[in-house]
Amino acid sequence: MTAQTDAAGVSSPELIRAELAVWVRRNWDPDLPLRDWRTLLLDAGWAVPSWPQRWYGRGLPAWADEVVSAELLRLGAVGVPVGSGTWLAAPTILAHGSDELCLRLLRPILTGEQTWCQLFSEPGAGSDLAGLSTTAVLDGDSWVVNGQKVWNTSAHHADMAMLLARTDSSVPKHQGITYFALPMKQPGVEARQLRQMNFHASFNEVFLTDARVPRDNVVGAVGQGWAAALTTLAYERRFAALQRPAYSPSPGRALDEARAEAERYFATYSWYPQRAGRPDLVVEHARAAGVASDPVVRQAIARLITLQRVSTWTAERARVARAGGARPGAEGSIGKLAASNVARESARVHSLITGAAGLLTGPDATLGGVIAEVLMSVPAVSIAGGTDEIQRNILAEKMLGLPAELRVDRDVPFSQIKGRG
Ligand SMILES: Cc1cc2nc3c(=O)[nH]c(=O)nc-3n(C[C@H](O)[C@H](O)[C@H](O)COP(=O)(O)OP(=O)(O)OC[C@H]3O[C@@H](n4cnc5c(N)ncnc54)[C@H](O)[C@@H]3O)c2cc1C
Repeated sequence: MTAQTDAAGVSSPELIRAELAVWVRRNWDPDLPLRDWRTLLLDAGWAVPSWPQRWYGRGLPAWADEVVSAELLRLGAVGVPVGSGTWLAAPTILAHGSDELCLRLLRPILTGEQTWCQLFSEPGAGSDLAGLSTTAVLDGDSWVVNGQKVWNTSAHHADMAMLLARTDSSVPKHQGITYFALPMKQPGVEARQLRQMNFHASFNEVFLTDARVPRDNVVGAVGQGWAAALTTLAYERRFAALQRPAYSPSPGRALDEARAEAERYFATYSWYPQRAGRPDLVVEHARAAGVASDPVVRQAIARLITLQRVSTWTAERARVARAGGARPGAEGSIGKLAASNVARESARVHSLITGAAGLLTGPDATLGGVIAEVLMSVPAVSIAGGTDEIQRNILAEKMLGLPAELRVDRDVPFSQIKGRG
């Protein structure tokens, strides 16, 4: 029995919260530099409590991560940084990387010293990610990478990248891919920001010209990057909802630095609430537009709120099942599809309320231009992290056992696929 488990060896949120509170009382000092505070957190195993003890965790069940991060905020303290380093790169490295790689890469992610981006998609390889054609060739102590990536969120300011590149074209497409940890700040990497139709610029095209990756920065084995990529994609679906941590407004160096870090990070994602359709605004919008008693509008709002509630309950049911030890199942794909449906339906309801005026932008427009941003941002939710059609394919094949899609290029060497190799 430990302090976090009862006599039967079972851990509970209450026991975990109680032990964490004691530790925070003894160790939390808001005047510490943020990195120093996070170092304490890592060394005490409170950084990611579900991870093994030697990797900054306590070997607790997966649900403990959420309990601990919420409790740290409630106690006025700060947890590990948000972002694709913590949410995507770190669990992938932990699951597939060598001990040496874990030792070198995990700590700077969890202290916030290094930020990450994802270099997966290419102009010719999005849904068909395994068809990617960026190459990596071993040259002495490093891999030399050439190719082009696209739609890479935050690549213009990331320190490191999760990179997929082809290291062998003589085998079928899924087998010749390697997963690398690429240092972004080097002459061979050029990130060009793309202007979106909602006027933001969160994505980049990334040109890789003789970019260098240290020989040992391979996550998993050479040629087996697909398995690691699937791990990243599974986490991406799970963390589709991006939540800004509610840091205490109290003074203190660690808090100031954490608030500034979140400010920098979330600047890229300022349009993501609009991407989700802003169902929270429909009632206010209908009242402001004077149509709150219109029966058609009321009916549309009721339908939207119903959809949203049902999808929240589905997510909650999945969370409880995971907490009870169930393996992640279809809920990632179902949740992604539900988010797309809610966002689209919400955009439709906002359009119904406002009519053509919803297209106006600027401070004088409906709700200060938020509705126009909703209409121009909602399409992204059906694409990012795997399109709706791909989620349906996954559900049909993996969950419902329906016949698999015809994949004629699956078993031939990549070099023999027309237009690819
Ligand atoms: C907000 C956002 C953030 C993103 N961030 C990143 C990032 O950080 N890093 C990164 O690498 N990428 C990122 N992406 C790219 C994203 O992963 C791809 O856009 C996505 O995988 C789709 O690929 P694609 O754009 O090439 O479309 P395509 O694959 O060309 O698809 C075009 C259309 O064909 C359909 N289609 C394709 N194949 C099938 C099939 N087998 N069955 C049925 N229909 C099919 C698709 O559903 C879609 O409607 C981001 C995208 C968005 C919108």
